[in-house]
Amino acid sequence: MFNALVILQENEQQRVAIEQLSEEQLPEGDVTVQVSYSSINYKDGLAITGTGKIVRSFPMVPGIDFVGTVLESDSADYQPGDQVILTGWGVGERHWGGLAEKARVKSKWLVPLPANLTPEQTMIIGTAGLTAMLCVMALEHNQVDKSIGDILVTGASGGVGSTAVALLSALGYSVAAVTGRPENADYLTKLGASQIVDRSELAERAKPLDQQRWAGVIDTAGGNILANALSQTHYNGTVAACGLAADYKLPTSVMPFILRNVTLAGVDSVMCPTAKRQEAWRRLAELLPAEFYQQASEQISLAQVPQWADKIVAGKVTGRTLVKLN
Ligand code: NAP
Repeated sequence: MFNALVILQENEQQRVAIEQLSEEQLPEGDVTVQVSYSSINYKDGLAITGTGKIVRSFPMVPGIDFVGTVLESDSADYQPGDQVILTGWGVGERHWGGLAEKARVKSKWLVPLPANLTPEQTMIIGTAGLTAMLCVMALEHNQVDKSIGDILVTGASGGVGSTAVALLSALGYSVAAVTGRPENADYLTKLGASQIVDRSELAERAKPLDQQRWAGVIDTAGGNILANALSQTHYNGTVAACGLAADYKLPTSVMPFILRNVTLAGVDSVMCPTAKRQEAWRRLAELLPAEFYQQASEQISLAQVPQWADKIVAGKVTGRTLVKLN
């Protein structure tokens, strides 16, 4: 038997409970993993609180990320004792996830524990950090010119935002961090931001074109914030959009694209191909400084997860939350 957080649905109402499950109840998959850590992402918050339509079938074990040790494997790629990580692929949404002491998944969704990272560090990074790295890679792919100006990071105190600030700073970009929490200015400066922008400056409806301020943007917010970021991006700049913490809508015009050659690059981590994931994990291991893991993370137990799910949906979590399982 093992402990798991379970989302149940009764009379169209959702509730969560920690339950004891048996291995026979685990879903189909060719690899069974003893989970050591999971994490809390915004999407986990939406799933656990029932705020967003994330969970497709009930009962569901949430948790879109985990790291752990292989217990049993029918795959030639993994042997018992191997350390593996999983992020995305619909795990914790359509397939039981990582907020449990055991998980069974498809081997093709796993990646080996990256060299030079501890299991704890991989979950401090988690889906949020992987997504931040993929956003940075999108800016690099489009050859964003760091000599032109700052890179704007929105939702900077959150998981994606905090990791993006640390990665960009490590790569020598000058970072402008957008936050709705001015009390986090010190935290963001320590992570590497050189300028703090109040979220309210970007919250109103955007002009078709505004003063050119940003060489590039990593946006986790969507809505007016993304629209303003697009209209303030320099000629030839790139905006990597990965989130909807403010809004899923995008009230913009074609002007930044057709008059300033701005590129809007969509970033998805869930279905990201394995080779690109492995490259992103390699870069994360190389770039994130040791202080990042202390500055930007907090560790909680499985029992505390529902409370943290409420907090992340309310925009009150700073950095990343690690969940210790075994
Ligand atoms: P998070 O830790 O909750 O961070 C979100 C941050 O956004 C908050 O900390 C807050 O930062 C800011 N924020 C909150 N409410 C806001 C609002 N109404 N308007 C503007 N900003 C607001 O979440 P996360 O895990 O980093 O995820 C961030 C976003 O990226 C989410 O929308 C998530 O779904 C998305 N995401 C997408 C992918 C993908 O594959 N595309 C992967 C991971 C995450 P401040 O207080 O500093 O403003």
